[in-house]
Amino acid sequence: MTKKYDVIVIGAGPAGMTAALYASRAELSVLMLDRGIYGGQMNNTAEIENYPGFKSILGPDLSKEMYDSSTQFGVEYGYGEVTGIEVKGDERIVKAGDEEYIGSAVIIGSGSEYRKLGVPGEEDFAGRGVSYCAVCDGAFFKGEDVIVVGGGDSAIQEATYLANLAKTVTVIHRRSELRAQKILQERAFDRDNINFIWDSNVEEIQGDDKKVNQVKIKNNQTGEEKVVPAAGVFIYVGILPLTNAFKNVGITDDAGWIDTNDLMETKVPGIFAVGDVRKKHLRQITTAVGDGGIAGQGVFDYVESLKAKK
Ligand code: NAP
Repeated sequence: MTKKYDVIVIGAGPAGMTAALYASRAELSVLMLDRGIYGGQMNNTAEIENYPGFKSILGPDLSKEMYDSSTQFGVEYGYGEVTGIEVKGDERIVKAGDEEYIGSAVIIGSGSEYRKLGVPGEEDFAGRGVSYCAVCDGAFFKGEDVIVVGGGDSAIQEATYLANLAKTVTVIHRRSELRAQKILQERAFDRDNINFIWDSNVEEIQGDDKKVNQVKIKNNQTGEEKVVPAAGVFIYVGILPLTNAFKNVGITDDAGWIDTNDLMETKVPGIFAVGDVRKKHLRQITTAVGDGGIAGQGVFDYVESLKAKK
């Protein structure tokens, strides 16, 4: 039997969880679906120190705190890999595997995933030295030499985390200047065991039949090629929106991000989007939570307006 809800929230990251909290506290019936464990990208983050209320908190711990508070007003939480949304009059039908759920409204907070580098060896050595999650895999590289690729907040924050475990961390960045926030840069520069290789691109990740042992790089200014030995390669070269399932609804831009107005409404009535999946300037837990609050309140007004129409 297809179940009906006032609101279906897709994704249980900080944005989705906050939207679910606001909507359920306004006494709407809420289903929150996620294809994995709640928390989203927070689960891949070791230390969070820019979420007010906590001087410093581990990502998985903040995920649990948010989950407990967001579900206290009766949110139904379930597993679901959402494959599409159908718009049928005032119904928004969410498809997840063999299941279909009907909502008066949908809030999309499906987030993003790490972009792949796209070089030879990356796929072959995934899980055998190539990783996109220092918190998950860093412990496998205790006392070893590792490489971090990228120059943004993720690369530099995770390089500093890895420096606590690995013997050395070599950051390979394609320019001579980092994109990461200054405070993260300073912390990385202060560490004796973090080295930087500038203006360089990874050409290939190489290893034996078991695991990674070196990376071939090329300086994009001089053309010089060299090999850097390493047991692990952590790739942080940006993020991509997780929106394939929503392309048919016509709410994504050419790059796949979802456009909304200030009220988190997409151009389809009754479909809202929150958090990293939105086209936005600053992707942070704080901004995700802000989006969630706005959408959770907005969806109440939307559902009330539907009831008034009947
Ligand atoms: P990002 O900010 O897009 O940075 C991606 C980095 O990868 C850039 O340095 C970029 O180089 C490099 N890059 C991109 N494509 C590449 C390629 N093909 N080859 C080599 N290098 C490549 O992504 P992010 O660091 O994952 O961060 C995503 C979002 O989450 C950002 O909004 C960030 O602020 C936020 N975030 C915040 C925190 C925090 O506040 N503590 C922590 C993590 C993430 P260029 O610099 O040359 O473009």
